[in-house]
Amino acid sequence: MLQNVEVGRSSLDKYRSTAGDAAVDELRRLAQTLQGLRVLHVNATPYGGGVAEILRSEVPLLRDLGIVARWKTIPGSNEFFAVTKAIHNALQGGTRGVTEREWEIYEQTSAQAAEQVEGSYDIVVVHDPQPLMLRSLVGRRDAVWIWRCHIDSSEPDPAVLARLAPLLGDYDAAVYTLGSFAPPDAPPGRVEIIPPAIDPLSPKNLDLDADLATEVLDWIGVDVARPLLVQVSRFDHWKDPLGVIAAYRLVKRRIPQVQLALVGSMALDDPEGWQVYREISADAADDPDIYLFTNLTGVGNIEVNAFQRHADVVIQKSLREGFGLVVTEATWKGTPVVAGRAGGIPLQLADGVGGHLVGSVEECAERVLDLLLDPAEGRRLALAGRELVRRRFLLPRLIGDELQLYADLLKQNPP
Ligand code: UDP
Repeated sequence: MLQNVEVGRSSLDKYRSTAGDAAVDELRRLAQTLQGLRVLHVNATPYGGGVAEILRSEVPLLRDLGIVARWKTIPGSNEFFAVTKAIHNALQGGTRGVTEREWEIYEQTSAQAAEQVEGSYDIVVVHDPQPLMLRSLVGRRDAVWIWRCHIDSSEPDPAVLARLAPLLGDYDAAVYTLGSFAPPDAPPGRVEIIPPAIDPLSPKNLDLDADLATEVLDWIGVDVARPLLVQVSRFDHWKDPLGVIAAYRLVKRRIPQVQLALVGSMALDDPEGWQVYREISADAADDPDIYLFTNLTGVGNIEVNAFQRHADVVIQKSLREGFGLVVTEATWKGTPVVAGRAGGIPLQLADGVGGHLVGSVEECAERVLDLLLDPAEGRRLALAGRELVRRRFLLPRLIGDELQLYADLLKQNPP
């Protein structure tokens, strides 16, 4: 069976104070014609990573808007998720490719999952490559199918893209974060550009008193009196954790008290996580000022909130990134960010708005040093960043864009 993820319902009106009355009223207006609409979101994991983060917040709000929203995950073995991670890596420009045997595993698991798609829906939204095959395998044509790509697919492996292209063609629409992520040779019926967003009221992002944040980190074992750099990420090569450590070491030459926390979560659908974790541990082993924390040792949403708030600088040195929720989460908390000039990040952070964009270890270290040496400038940048998040990257805007797309597609493809 596709696994049901039960998340309840929450109230959109609570978002008035952060997103504004106009955004909430507009959503209610958009939802008026979509009452009772049956929407299914399918992804690969109920926790770990940005997609789960968004669905956890979005589905309960869709329900408050009168939409019959469900969230399900595609079940798979480690072997299946190793294959889908290889596909993910290839779409992000990795060169290892995907073997014939791996494609077989992908097809077999997808076929088993497709047999178990039950129920009737008006809209099915499939997230990322893991459940992508479902559309062509589920023969029924009684719903509008949307593929939501969260990946930086601006420079995909052509051979892997060629295998996926016919699958994309079966969808009524595909949604990307940036126009440059949409593969030119594989257009489905319609291509839409919708950037993701963060939930300002989730435990990860809600206002956490500065003293409480400090207490939480003190308990975790960080020296709260010394400067702290933080990167919050799945343990993934595209997030360049070793580059972050290298940049931290350059900073430490000038500011010896500085500490670095790498906070990472393990996701069900990312079997590479432990391997990358071991590489980081080995690299960091000789330095007690580098901390490695994971969700498996109790670093959850509140702790991430505390890290992003208390850090002097948040780093997100991604080499590829669809849209780094973590960048927007940190900016929203008024913390300056130094982030890789990659994929969707320049949309979230302009030089001088929220922090700085960088392309190399050295540049990363320089910009971090600038911010550590001039905290007032850091605060100024972060406040400008917070305003950008308020205007463009809060959840009600994302839901509004999606409802608009559903309404348009249903007009073109009436049930
Ligand atoms: N995250 C977390 N704990 C961790 C690491 C990451 O809760 O130890 C969350 C992070 O706060 C963010 C999401 O996982 O909400 C990661 O989303 P992002 O878009 O930055 O990257 P992705 O993992 O989707 O590539």
